[in-house]
Amino acid sequence: MSQKRAKSGPRGTVVIETERCKGCELCIPACPPGILRMSPRRNASGYLLPELLGGCTGCSACLMVCPDYCFEVYQFDDMAEADRREAGQ
Ligand code: SF4
Ligand code: SF4
Repeated sequence: MSQKRAKSGPRGTVVIETERCKGCELCIPACPPGILRMSPRRNASGYLLPELLGGCTGCSACLMVCPDYCFEVYQFDDMAEADRREAGQ
């Protein structure tokens, strides 16, 4: 899957409560920019976990679709802050 990144428009990020995840993968196709993917990591219950790539818009589609309420979604007001977060600074 290719990673699409919004060049403008809303920017955000998500925190995934990994121990709640059941690995159902519903969040993967639900993400409009396609920046969630399943990783090889597993939680303590043995379920494979999703991971976030760069380019989150903070749209909350993942939060709405997840049956286990794993997502917290944040939107950035400050685009420079969004760039720093995505660069890991
Ligand atoms: S908030 Fe939207 S863009 Fe960000 S990970 Fe969730 S579905 Fe994808
Ligand atoms: S939708 Fe929720 S439970 Fe399913 S894989 Fe995604 S984070 Fe895990």
